[in-house]
Amino acid sequence: MKSIKAPNVSGVGSPGRRSVFSMCGMCATRCPIQVEVEDGRVTWIQGNSHDKAMGASLCAKGAAGLSLEYDDDQRPQYPLIRTGPRGAGQWRRAGWDEALDYVADKLKSVIDKYGGKGVVLSDRGGAFSDLTKSFVKALGSPNYFTHDCTCGSNAHHATKSLFGVGRTGMSYDFKNSKHIVLYGRNIIESLQVKEAKDFIQALQNGAKCTYIDPRATLTAGKAARYWQIRPNTEYALNLSIINVLLKENLYDRDFVTRWSIGLDELSSFVMDKTPEWQETYTGIPAREVRSFVNEIANDAPKAIFHAGWMTARHLQSFYGSRTAHAINALLGAIEVPGGSIFAKGAKDVGKKGLNNLTDRIPAVKDPRVDGCGWKHTHFDPGPGILHLLFPAIETGDPYKVGAYIAYRHDPLSSLPDPEATMKLLDRLELLVSIDVNYSEAAWRSDVILPESTYLERANILTEKTGPKPSFLMRDQAVSPRFDSRPAWWIFRELARRLGVGEFFDFENVEEIWNYQLEGTGVTVAQLREKGQISLADKPVLWDREKGLKFKTPSGKIEFTSSVLKKAGLDDFVEFAPPKNMEGDEFRLLFGRSAVHNHAHTMNNPLLNELLDYNPIWIHPSRAEKLGIADGSLIEVSRQGYAVKGLAKVTPWIHRDAVFMLHGFGRTVPLQKRAYNKGTADQRLQKGMLTVYDPAGGGHALCECTVHVHPA
Ligand code: SF4
Repeated sequence: MKSIKAPNVSGVGSPGRRSVFSMCGMCATRCPIQVEVEDGRVTWIQGNSHDKAMGASLCAKGAAGLSLEYDDDQRPQYPLIRTGPRGAGQWRRAGWDEALDYVADKLKSVIDKYGGKGVVLSDRGGAFSDLTKSFVKALGSPNYFTHDCTCGSNAHHATKSLFGVGRTGMSYDFKNSKHIVLYGRNIIESLQVKEAKDFIQALQNGAKCTYIDPRATLTAGKAARYWQIRPNTEYALNLSIINVLLKENLYDRDFVTRWSIGLDELSSFVMDKTPEWQETYTGIPAREVRSFVNEIANDAPKAIFHAGWMTARHLQSFYGSRTAHAINALLGAIEVPGGSIFAKGAKDVGKKGLNNLTDRIPAVKDPRVDGCGWKHTHFDPGPGILHLLFPAIETGDPYKVGAYIAYRHDPLSSLPDPEATMKLLDRLELLVSIDVNYSEAAWRSDVILPESTYLERANILTEKTGPKPSFLMRDQAVSPRFDSRPAWWIFRELARRLGVGEFFDFENVEEIWNYQLEGTGVTVAQLREKGQISLADKPVLWDREKGLKFKTPSGKIEFTSSVLKKAGLDDFVEFAPPKNMEGDEFRLLFGRSAVHNHAHTMNNPLLNELLDYNPIWIHPSRAEKLGIADGSLIEVSRQGYAVKGLAKVTPWIHRDAVFMLHGFGRTVPLQKRAYNKGTADQRLQKGMLTVYDPAGGGHALCECTVHVHPA
């Protein structure tokens, strides 16, 4: 067994004390952090004090990075090659050379049979994806995916349809807002440190929050107004808000006239969608809606309707998000302090951006296997739609794929119905996981390649867009404890074995950084000093008279969209009321707590100690009828699958729904702390793998209904 080493970043492992400015890796937000290291060991982690918005703050998960590093021996410690059936947990330890040769040989065989396009990679996505995209592109495959079909896809496409930029192309200026409207965007628990701090600061400055969610989260506890809306009905509410804004002439006529198309069509569509009309569906009193609209029109333009990525995931989510942004536009709350602001990149502020690794690789000619960008013309081919891969695996149409690499992404925890997903993945010739933890998919893979923790590795540099764009660095703080490797090294080694090493011709990460920074005027040493370099002195806002840059075909906000028309979709559709839940039937909702990052952190020693179980929330009026008492054992079932859990009887969940935190019910025996604790919502989502919002592409997870009984 031979293990070739990845080089440490210079300075790592040296004796004495040093501060390393880096980026947290306990969730996908990647907050800037400061890591104190003494004699090669991390002693303290805090927020990067050079970043004013961050200060020294960390969330609980960020603070538990130390626990990941030093207390968690239940993570992959060396490469593993499967020796028994998939999922049987029979492995043999391999050296890196052997494991990489094994993966490369299988990939070669797949490429020989199906071409490069026969290789698929799914990534958690985000800041460092230039590396993974490069690897896939170098193989000649267009099939790079993110996890977005279970996350932001509906909101992403809705934002694009109105403004021409995706969901991350818009940022929200919470701090200066007067009124923040959140549809299940649980800022206090599903948190990003800076955003949560800005939100609290806004409330301290006197801003109001209106929180709309079938479940009262901790964020609802901070709101001035909480509406416990019937699940999957926020689109009806939004249509009625637009109705009042237009009929009572409460919108920003100058802004809308100057910057939008299709107002007449929108106006005529919402003519009969009154607050009284929506009350029947949402349960929100009409008079409250009327008074709210008058209030927010007064607060405009310092108002934010967060189009969310946790906007209920249902069959009309796309239109829910689209109307939320349409309200922002009608209020003139675009590109103003306290409203929604276009995210700016380096070029937008007159600077040169980072050089991309992907730019060095020839374009791929083959179309995407999921049809994004050609068959589904309105779906962004960047992140793709992962669940649309599965019909292709089954039928070979438009072509066959043979290998799947899951990088920091767990399709069996995030996609609905893991049993159905695994049956499809079982058809593939190769399944590889590259991860810090044993994900559910890793446990069923052919090979696990352990990535070093975020404290033990450096990543490629990243450019953060926003009102004040910046370059950020994740630097290596300490040497890896186990026989793990950084992603840049793993992909480089695979690329070299697959004959495309010329695109990964760097010996260490510092060479990549230098390439990325070429021509920017910024040096590695400068970035090292503070972990980030801001590219603008203050937030950049475009001129609202002449300078707004909507990337839509018309160059304006499109209430009527030619892109949607081309895809055979309507600008707005009639609201489809969900059926009321009665008897033992409930809608299954899920969400997050402040101390876990979905399934990734379930086995973290510290976080597991804080929360290792997810009770099932149920409304008292429904619980009583079914004879369910608080704390009693209940059975939740769907399509022949049943699971038992403890009931939490509470009025803070809508009567139509039961709720559970996501990420629990782990099935990897080596994760002893989290193993079999709590309930996995995705396993209850039987038959939901192919159910999605046709306009947004995102899974309609909240369409899932279950039956509930005393156990
Ligand atoms: S929100 Fe918390 S876990 Fe996520 S990156 Fe920031 S500090 Fe880390």
